[in-house]
Amino acid sequence: MALGHRNSRRSSADPYQADLERFAEAANGVYSVCFADWDEVRRMLDALRDGNSRAASYVNPIREFLNRINCASRKQAPLCFTCEQTFLRKTRPLIIAVILPYCDQPPNGIVGGFCATCAVTRAGWPAPGWHDRVAELITPILQQVWGPEARFADAFHLNKLGNG
Ligand SMILES: [Zn+2]
Repeated sequence: MALGHRNSRRSSADPYQADLERFAEAANGVYSVCFADWDEVRRMLDALRDGNSRAASYVNPIREFLNRINCASRKQAPLCFTCEQTFLRKTRPLIIAVILPYCDQPPNGIVGGFCATCAVTRAGWPAPGWHDRVAELITPILQQVWGPEARFADAFHLNKLGNG
């Protein structure tokens, strides 16, 4: 499942909307999110190879997202969270975000990305603190999809996956 800001225009009859609702039910208003640049994605892949089963919740949807980017036509391509940049094979996101319900056995996460321009100019990537700034950018999007009470319990614990 992928998330882009155009999704806010979808209707409740949309099967995608049903997925979002199931996801919201598991979350009960509380989400966790992982922001990863390409180095961190590689560390997550290593964690998965080393048998970290939780890593699968993040890595599988990231793989799906990248496949979608590689195969998408311009019209179907996912969008940057914070601008109109489309993600295609040659314009991949610089930061990938995976959102999960904050619970013990989360379903696979929802994935989106930030383009290189937004990552650098709006989040200050790669300067220290970029995870926090991305969390600030993405919180209004979370609340737009799941309501004003939606919040992140832990903005980036997932990035520790590959480190420990
Ligand atoms: Zn952007």
